[in-house]
Amino acid sequence: MRFQAHRGLKLIRGEGQYVWDSEGRRYLDAHTGHGAAFLGHRPRKVVDAIKEQLDKLMVASTTFSTDAMEDCLSSLGKILPSKLNNVYFQNSGAEAVELALKLAFKATGRRGLLSFKNGFHGRTLGALSVTWNREYREGLPLLRAEFGEFNDISSADLINDETAAVILEPVQGEGGIEPSRRDFLVELRRACDEAGAVLIFDEVQCGFGRTGATWAHQSRGVEPDILIAGKSIASGFPISLVAAKDWVIEGLRAGFHGSTHGGNPLACAALKASIELFIEENVPEAARKMGKSLASMISEYAELKGEGLMLGVRVKQPGRAIRSLQASGVLALKAGEDMVRLLPPYCITEEDCSFLSGRLRRVLSEQSS
Ligand SMILES: *Cc1c(COP(=O)(O)O)cnc(C)c1O
Repeated sequence: MRFQAHRGLKLIRGEGQYVWDSEGRRYLDAHTGHGAAFLGHRPRKVVDAIKEQLDKLMVASTTFSTDAMEDCLSSLGKILPSKLNNVYFQNSGAEAVELALKLAFKATGRRGLLSFKNGFHGRTLGALSVTWNREYREGLPLLRAEFGEFNDISSADLINDETAAVILEPVQGEGGIEPSRRDFLVELRRACDEAGAVLIFDEVQCGFGRTGATWAHQSRGVEPDILIAGKSIASGFPISLVAAKDWVIEGLRAGFHGSTHGGNPLACAALKASIELFIEENVPEAARKMGKSLASMISEYAELKGEGLMLGVRVKQPGRAIRSLQASGVLALKAGEDMVRLLPPYCITEEDCSFLSGRLRRVLSEQSS
């Protein structure tokens, strides 16, 4: 039995920006497993690091030190904002959101949650409580949360001395590609400081170079108290992380949180190698450059939103458009009610961009005829 929606496609192999199906057909991958293969499929350096680790140590509880974890933490130090220096590893984005919420409740002793319309934070109960989409939440007992208007500075008025956490995506993904405005984040930061609330940025989708900055919040000059990352950080190997400022974790007793597989040595090796690749290849710059190229081609015939290689194209019937794209050799996703979401890997070429744009143009003209 399967719960998931299905695309009628069986994938056999992936390499760089392409995947192949069971019939031997090649696809340009702008789906990348919900963005997880942003560094491309099976980057050599990461595959080698996992293999090497596999021959040394595959399991270790976080109650023990390992080289894999220590090396990975020191690599992370090169890309994380310096004040977000308390890192905890989890396995998925939703799990990291759960931990971030727990930390905020503990740090403040409060219960209030503020998130935003069209926000998405994952499918577990805590994460769903701050996720907007009604379909995902229906019939479930959730935590109480308020939903503010995204990019409306008056949403900051909802932050008060009962607010434990304010959580948002600096660029909204799943709910419709929507970049946050700088003045909006500035205002939320100010209100959180004033109220003593924890500001959480969920960069599971928009982080790690995808928008053209290492972290999307950095291009807005506003720093969170907790940063959440996942999806692509280890090239698709399952690992996520929560990075918190000192004040948030002050007073927590050791053992407050735990995770059997969190910080697994293979995942840490994959993460470390991915960070090295990220730095060596200057991934954010590539995302900026190719994103600009792709966006300028698409904007000739369609309405476009997004940043870097996180793009949303407005269409009438996104479900149909995605199926047509798939039939023409391009994998993409939906976002919100009326968008095709493109999450290609950083290694996409100009030629790939023309191919993608050409296919998209044809699909859109079919829709309007
Ligand atoms: C995908 C996503 C999540 C959930 O991550 P999972 O690994 O699927 O649990 C959380 N937040 C954002 C912004 C996401 O895009």
